[in-house]
Amino acid sequence: MIAKVAPKKAPKQGMLENVMRQFDNAADIIDLNKNIRKILEVTNNEFVVHFPVRMDNGEVEIFTGYRVQHNNSLGPYKGGLRYHPTVDIDAAKALAMWMTWKTSLAGLPYGGAKGGIQLDPTKYSGSELERITRRFTYALGDNIGPELDIPAPDVNTNSQTMAWILDTYMSTKSPAERSTNMHVVTGKPIGAGGSKGRDRATGYGVFLTIKFWAKNNNVDLKNKKFIVQGFGNVGYWASYFLVKEGALLTAVQDAYGSIVNEDGIDVDQLLAYSQGNKGSILGFSKARTIDNADFFSLDCDICIPAALGNQITAKNANKIKAYLIAEGANGPTDVDAENILLKKGIDIIPDILCNSGGVIGSYFEWLQNRNGEIWSLEEVMEKLEKKMLTSFTTVIETSKKRNVDMRTAAFIIAIERLEEAYVQRGIFP
Ligand code: GLU
Repeated sequence: MIAKVAPKKAPKQGMLENVMRQFDNAADIIDLNKNIRKILEVTNNEFVVHFPVRMDNGEVEIFTGYRVQHNNSLGPYKGGLRYHPTVDIDAAKALAMWMTWKTSLAGLPYGGAKGGIQLDPTKYSGSELERITRRFTYALGDNIGPELDIPAPDVNTNSQTMAWILDTYMSTKSPAERSTNMHVVTGKPIGAGGSKGRDRATGYGVFLTIKFWAKNNNVDLKNKKFIVQGFGNVGYWASYFLVKEGALLTAVQDAYGSIVNEDGIDVDQLLAYSQGNKGSILGFSKARTIDNADFFSLDCDICIPAALGNQITAKNANKIKAYLIAEGANGPTDVDAENILLKKGIDIIPDILCNSGGVIGSYFEWLQNRNGEIWSLEEVMEKLEKKMLTSFTTVIETSKKRNVDMRTAAFIIAIERLEEAYVQRGIFP
């Protein structure tokens, strides 16, 4: 049951409006070839699937899943799958576009895609989530594939989800094809073809970009206060590495609420607490609870939004005290907020650079599967740091050369690489 929706010009709203405004801004500055602009403004393919799953109580529920493939001119489509009530076709389109810019900026041989299922995963048991994931994979069929479109974890999905996808995809293949399809998903558990270091890659990348920024701006991270929105994989690992560097985690917000301790929150104690508390940080004894509305106005040096899109808006941007925002999430700052922040002199390390460690780690996993190799953790982390530094340096150089902010510079680099590919290849027929 796959409906292939014809690409059409994106309506302007929410995250989609945001990514289009970011794209238009950079495209105007570089005077992007108008035909290539037309191509990049739309998505190549959009799949919407409806599928039934039997629940633990015997009832059947119908779910809606999405996979949007934005562009593949630089290589196979790549990007995560999220399980969240906010997943819809426009969210998937926006997130797929960000993936295209992200992989291009990182210099990876990939395009951009994104998808997921519109659901609240807290409402389902583990075995229901397994059946939902397997049935979704089956519904996507051969529209994903190791050399075509490679999903990965995102919000509310993890290595277990990827293992189910792998197993389901493999089960539909002939015996001879099974062992050669390991790279149909990345972010797998290590025992099921995953790569060492992929779990921490996004958060470590967020930390690295902050470290590079600090070095460039002569800032010592020791005792600097940072706040994190989202305590999932990205928020946890970014915090872990920042605290190791001597910075202080002073506040955390998750889907359940916000907590503060100016003397510093112990990252691993908080993780252990939330794991034993159905994934919620609320009630952690070594911090006090504050109103969610006060979170972004807390006194701090660095603010790391690592949850969902459109969190920093014109409504709260004025209240932000941090002088650096590092975007662990995709699209957390909308364009109106960004204009306010830039005017205030606040630097923003843009999502397509800041959180690109995840897809770079995915690329390393994909390469290992494809080549039958197994790399050590040190090797992965070293290669990741090298790639992140190259991207960071290119963004800083472009922002100086063009006198633009970091996001615009990152978009310019990404779009120019795609433009070059189209100019060299031409348009079929
Ligand atoms: N979901 C992550 C992102 O937004 C990772 C994507 C991937 O590894 O393909 O970048």
